[in-house]
Amino acid sequence: MKKIVALLLAIVLLLCGCGQKGADASGTIFCMDTVMDLQIWGSDADEAYTKLAQLLRSLEQEWSANEEESAAAKLDREDAELTQQQAALAQKALALSQRTQGAFEPRIYGLTSLWGFTTGQYRVPTPTQIAEGMQSTRWDLGAVVKGYAGDRAVELMQELEVDRALLNLGGNVQTYGTKADGSAWVIGVRDPQDPNGTVGNLEVTGTCNVITSGGYQRYFEQDGVRYHHIIDPKTGYPADSDLASVTVVCTDGMTGDVLSTALFVMGYEKAVAHWQQHDDFEAVFILKDGTVRVTEGITFTGGSYEVISREN
Ligand code: AMP
Ligand code: MG
Repeated sequence: MKKIVALLLAIVLLLCGCGQKGADASGTIFCMDTVMDLQIWGSDADEAYTKLAQLLRSLEQEWSANEEESAAAKLDREDAELTQQQAALAQKALALSQRTQGAFEPRIYGLTSLWGFTTGQYRVPTPTQIAEGMQSTRWDLGAVVKGYAGDRAVELMQELEVDRALLNLGGNVQTYGTKADGSAWVIGVRDPQDPNGTVGNLEVTGTCNVITSGGYQRYFEQDGVRYHHIIDPKTGYPADSDLASVTVVCTDGMTGDVLSTALFVMGYEKAVAHWQQHDDFEAVFILKDGTVRVTEGITFTGGSYEVISREN
């Protein structure tokens, strides 16, 4: 009898041990044109996983830049009725556009579609086409919808009283809650030169977003020239940035997503100045020469880097 009890105890301990490591519900979905990896811990993790996948798919439909009936398309029609949430998102996008002095421009569909980034039919437009594209005010919220989805996912996790979650929404990482042992979430920052490598790790605690924008994420080549998907609204061409990537750490997902795109457009100097003027985010900048620079509020491990301070 003693032997059986000992065996059962060993099995239970083993199972508990597994529970500490793996999530209670996890899986991968393809959504918003990208792969999303979802891990959830808690007693009702399965239900939370199902509801989260439903939420992400409904947001994909709601904010698609190409669907005639999407909320993005409704924003283009003055008479269309928006829900309160949709109107709030649009207002926040416009406010963030102002904050970044237009480096983030939510009404950029005229340009992103011209280059083929909304459809996958890539081409280099003529200067006349670019000038026309710049006149358009059609909405494209591709730069923020994953960050916004992270915010909505957090609301859902709160509502369902999930213990914690680690969501990789196609390169946008949303953490929720604190790890069981109280240690930090460790998130690798991708090396723009190496699809399988990282330049180091970010350590964050609690509920947070780690969001990266980089020219390497989506691009096409024509006549030996590489054209990436982050457009400078002031020129109509892919941003001629001295940065290879920008990773933003921010509590608010939508703000973090706007900033990663906008700071990339601004380039290193203006981006650092923007950080020095605001205290709601931290950032990792990887310059085109491979140098890694990290703002002073960040815990960065496993790679060499220079620290950027608030005073200079
Ligand atoms: P992200 O990967 O978050 O940096 O967002 C890039 C996507 O946002 C692109 O694929 C475009 O759909 C859109 N986009 C490109 N440039 C801009 C810009 N300057 N402002 C707002 N959206 C942009
Ligand atoms: Mg973005």
